[in-house]
Amino acid sequence: MLIDNHGRLVNYLRLAVTDRCNLRCFYCMPEEGNKWLSRDELLRGDEMLRISKILVNAGVEKIRITGGEPFIRKDIMQLLGDLSKLPGLKNLSVTTNGVLTAPLVPELKKIGIRSVNLSLDTLDKNRFFTITHRDEFDKVMNTLDQLLIHNFSVKINAVVMEGKNIGDIIPLVNLTKKSPVEIRFIEEMPFNGEGSHYPVLHWNFEKILDHIRTSYPEIRKSEDEPFGTSTNFQVPGHAGKIGVIAAYSRTFCGTCNRIRITPQGNLKTCLYDGGVGNIRDLMRNGASDEKILTTITERISRRALDGREAERMREPVHESMATIGG
Ligand code: SAM
Ligand code: SF4
Repeated sequence: MLIDNHGRLVNYLRLAVTDRCNLRCFYCMPEEGNKWLSRDELLRGDEMLRISKILVNAGVEKIRITGGEPFIRKDIMQLLGDLSKLPGLKNLSVTTNGVLTAPLVPELKKIGIRSVNLSLDTLDKNRFFTITHRDEFDKVMNTLDQLLIHNFSVKINAVVMEGKNIGDIIPLVNLTKKSPVEIRFIEEMPFNGEGSHYPVLHWNFEKILDHIRTSYPEIRKSEDEPFGTSTNFQVPGHAGKIGVIAAYSRTFCGTCNRIRITPQGNLKTCLYDGGVGNIRDLMRNGASDEKILTTITERISRRALDGREAERMREPVHESMATIGG
């Protein structure tokens, strides 16, 4: 078992498989895109599988594939298939923007994936374009339909942005009336490749909840997932749920069970740290599995207490979420 220096169990890996993306979400990267990693800098499929195997053998039970946009990678279905066969891995899931995902849904199901997080900040085609700088709304909605038709457990991630999609909060909650989806409203974090968009966070979790209560005063607290980041609610009688993720306020660090590997193989033991070691270089320099594991456990044993401490210990944040994986 992997236990950090604050007694927290680490059993969840978020693996970002690419920094590239077919959208340009305003809160994630500049319109012109990031300075992309070269093919050589990116982890290869066999390297990602190796890191995953080492970590699953050490007690990791859940892996989420993220990015950039995971389905941009040509070898992604092969990697998902290989990961799904790892003995000891109980939960394999994907976070996607949904642009390329719809035709792959049946295959994802065959592989054994049961839950997908779909990023969708608006139900309005024009606002989608304003936020993502790409005209791909219909494809994303088709992915949502396909996931529901194939009985996936679907969580919709919606970043709440002042002046961009506040008018979408209630329509998104309305979706939960008939659909068994979980809509998760996320506080905007300063990971847009530039630095914060606002001097202060306008929409924190409390304000988001107050806004929902203006239309749905009857919302009730519902069960939170163990180690989850979202605080969950439900409108009585609705099929789906609502979650609020205090990603900027960082109210959930006390039970954080996750580590991250970035597309170039950096290990992050906190979303807000600047990277605590490069596993790709270790592997390419011939390190054994044992050496890789001891390096990771050593870093886990020096983990920041919370996101505030991690942020204090680094250079100012200017990276894009596409190089972290969310
Ligand atoms: N491209 C995929 C997608 O969009 O679902 C996976 C990668 S994306 C970086 C993972 C998640 O991070 C998405 O749900 C996205 O909304 C969220 N995200 C990106 N930038 C963010 C930011 N600045 N603040 C809060 N969430 C952010
Ligand atoms: Fe791409 Fe996801 Fe970032 Fe949007 S949030 S630009 S879809 S990586």
